[in-house]
Amino acid sequence: MRKVSLLDVAPIAPADARGGPGAGVGRDWHAVPTDHALLDLQSATTGLSEREAEARLGRYGPNRIPEPQGPGPLRRFLQQFQNVLIYVLLAAAAAAALMQHVKDALVILAVILVNAVAGFIQEGRAERALAGIRHMIDPHASVLRDGLRVTIPADQVVPGDIVVLEAGDRIPADLRLIRASNLCIEEAALTGEAVAVEKGVEPVSADAVLGDRTSMAFCGTLVATGSAQALVVATGASTELGRISGLVAQVKRLPTPLVRQMDHFARQLTLVVAALAAVTFVVAYWLRDYSAVDSFMIIVGLAVAMIPEGLPAVMTIALSIGVTRMAARKAVIRQMPAVETLGSVSVICSDKTGTLTRNEMTVTSIVLSTGVAKFDGGGYAPVGDVTIDGSEPAASARVMLARSAMAASLCNDARIELEGDRWIPHGDPMEAALIALAGKIGAQSLEPLPSASRLAEIPFDSRHRYMATLNDVEGEARTIFVKGAPERLLALCTRQLGSGMDEGPLDRGYWVKAVDDLAHGGHRVLALAAKAANVDTTALSLSDLEDGLVLLAVVGIIDPPREEARAAVLECRQAGIAVKMITGDHAATAVSIARQLGLGEDPKVVSGAELAKLSDVDLVRVAQETVVFARTSPSDKLRLVQALQSLGHVVAMTGDGVNDAPALKQADVGVAMGRKGTEAAKAAAQMVLVDDNFASIVAAVREGRTVYDNLKKVVAMVLPTNGGETGALLVALVFGFTLPITPIQVLWVNMVTGVALELTLAFERTEPGAMQRPPRPRTEPLLTGQIWWQVFYVSAIFVAGTTGVFFWALGQGGSLEHARTVVVNTLVVMQVFYLFSARYIHGASITWQGLLGTPAVLIGVAAVVLGQLALTYLPWFNSAFGTQPLTLGEGAVVVGVSAVSANETD
Ligand code: ATP
Repeated sequence: MRKVSLLDVAPIAPADARGGPGAGVGRDWHAVPTDHALLDLQSATTGLSEREAEARLGRYGPNRIPEPQGPGPLRRFLQQFQNVLIYVLLAAAAAAALMQHVKDALVILAVILVNAVAGFIQEGRAERALAGIRHMIDPHASVLRDGLRVTIPADQVVPGDIVVLEAGDRIPADLRLIRASNLCIEEAALTGEAVAVEKGVEPVSADAVLGDRTSMAFCGTLVATGSAQALVVATGASTELGRISGLVAQVKRLPTPLVRQMDHFARQLTLVVAALAAVTFVVAYWLRDYSAVDSFMIIVGLAVAMIPEGLPAVMTIALSIGVTRMAARKAVIRQMPAVETLGSVSVICSDKTGTLTRNEMTVTSIVLSTGVAKFDGGGYAPVGDVTIDGSEPAASARVMLARSAMAASLCNDARIELEGDRWIPHGDPMEAALIALAGKIGAQSLEPLPSASRLAEIPFDSRHRYMATLNDVEGEARTIFVKGAPERLLALCTRQLGSGMDEGPLDRGYWVKAVDDLAHGGHRVLALAAKAANVDTTALSLSDLEDGLVLLAVVGIIDPPREEARAAVLECRQAGIAVKMITGDHAATAVSIARQLGLGEDPKVVSGAELAKLSDVDLVRVAQETVVFARTSPSDKLRLVQALQSLGHVVAMTGDGVNDAPALKQADVGVAMGRKGTEAAKAAAQMVLVDDNFASIVAAVREGRTVYDNLKKVVAMVLPTNGGETGALLVALVFGFTLPITPIQVLWVNMVTGVALELTLAFERTEPGAMQRPPRPRTEPLLTGQIWWQVFYVSAIFVAGTTGVFFWALGQGGSLEHARTVVVNTLVVMQVFYLFSARYIHGASITWQGLLGTPAVLIGVAAVVLGQLALTYLPWFNSAFGTQPLTLGEGAVVVGVSAVSANETD
């Protein structure tokens, strides 16, 4: 039982609230008032100690919901036999055995077994790889430990922890709310109810049903708005989600559109095969006088020859390999169909901060009303010189700087920490840069910064673009500090801080110019403001900021573009993919960064406010032409995706906040940020970027194109193989000559080529020109006219080649077995040669690189050669498959004919 007991919460509860061992077990936490002795103690501000948390982790185990058991190895092995074709083969084996053809029956069974083992191994490998990838995006939780807010893996959360919640967070365990502001939680994961529920700290009745327990937050649900602190009361399997997890349907791997398309095709083909088999049986038995068994075996051979039974499996494997390779490039696929869609992406809409830029922020200057202070020192170190006009700031300027430093550090949730010899930011990098800035100013200021405690806050929200706090500052009146986008604060402020601590009317023109100058230089710009509050104010609302706000300064922050993003933008340009920057930042800043990234000399920019005025029709045109969308809000993103899609674009869109979820869902490929993204954004996205890096999106697109090419190659390889075999059998039947290849031999050829050749195409690397051609149209079918033509043409060559060598071998006076051995070898060697031309759709086929290229191909070919040598020269195989050893000369003919035909298929 992992329900927390009063005893477990002991370190944060007074002695009289502890009760005896086991007290509180199974308690209805939603009914417990928050002013209960247990909850209003220092725990709410300091949380557990690391030591205590560790001890509890040992006691209660990790906060993980046991995963439902997947099918065991035996079940998975048996699943390999669930296939219509296998049933046909099993029936054939049974029929052969009944009619005393025991050897044939055994051979059929052996082939079925080899296929099943190969499928089992490949599938197991793919499954393991996918399971490993899932852990790359394990959720995190923000908790108080030893008085500090730390981010820990969600499975380390223990009963008694104080969890800090913000919009977009996934609730890591079952929680009793202690503080809540504006909190709404979306509980669909638990109750199926999509509308977010308002939550608060008020206790509810002890017998309230799950959906009415508004003082609780449940594991697995998502914070839609607001912020809160809460006490963990149950973790892992003891949570409400843990209890029902057995009932929650296991997440299924969705079949992708292409796999579905091929499945459908395979099914149709099966019907054709059935019809053809019936006709063939009639022809073979009545017109050509084959025995019933032989006629039956012929239609088995035909079925094996015609049905591309391995195709859906090979395609799924190709997709899984794509997923694995994308994960290696830091792009985690959450939904399989995204692998395919990525290959046809024609527009990437990307956030700026952290994706196109490094999100390594440094404040370089502060504009005061009396001059501009410049700061030395990079990174997050709180040390560096401050100068105004090249010299040390005067005392009056220091006072102003100190006031800015106070606003910057108090209206702030981040911290910086010295680890080794490096200062590391914790929390929002921009806020951490402000802490470093305050450190630099503090080091220069004559007076140490007074200490202050926070009473209330308005958290930052990308919709209103500022953050405010209410602080009790030592030796001062209660003060409201605000930081945010300059135009927002300029609209709110009426006064400004003058020399020393004097206040004067706001010189709007001065500040607008200061902001423009900084933004044009590529700086991120932030304004700082303050206002005295009434002594009795304890809460903060938007209306408190409406009058009397004093502008303190404007801060210029640099966040350099990522080097690799520049290269990736160039790659997109060559690949015909448009890149659009969609940012909450200032237009001038965004344009400057866009220029540095190579998004154009004079990229067209539109602001969110301008977008809002456009009709949907006009928006379509603007969306197409514009490169930078500045000061956008999440709802603009949704409209933009829709506008671009209406032009036929396949859109990849990045996002991180809870409000980005609709746009991520709407996009063809929704991309969430792994580091700065909220859990809500990740849940809505199809792909998560582990490193938040734009270059990783482009790498994923490249892999997406590779996968699609490989699928095409697989189809182009598999279908002619089937076509050639079927053709050879049908030609013989129609023209009434002896079958050039027996059904058992057809089985052999299919097994060898399926396991060793076709599968290797799923592993092919990206072709050199993959990112130098325009994106494939969304509607392009896999089986294009060109592919059909190739299938037909290559099948015809296979038929001609095999029939030709058959008669040649017979003409040499050899036996039928001998001639058939030549045919089987020719068919397989032709396929080996064809493999090399199928490997390059867009480039020359047989080149050194092509020959040496992927190890998988070489291993496959080596396996085929060994298999053919065994088939031809080992007595056991000779008797099982009706083959005979060939001479060196015949071997040369086999290779020669195959090489000539390869030339034709190229
Ligand atoms: P992108 O959308 O490209 O990631 P962004 O990070 O600039 O860009 P937002 O996070 O929406 O977008 O920020 C928009 C603006 O809000 C910023 O330019 C800044 O002026 C202001 N801002 C950002 N973070 C904070 C914060 N923590 N406190 C106060 N203001 C902020």
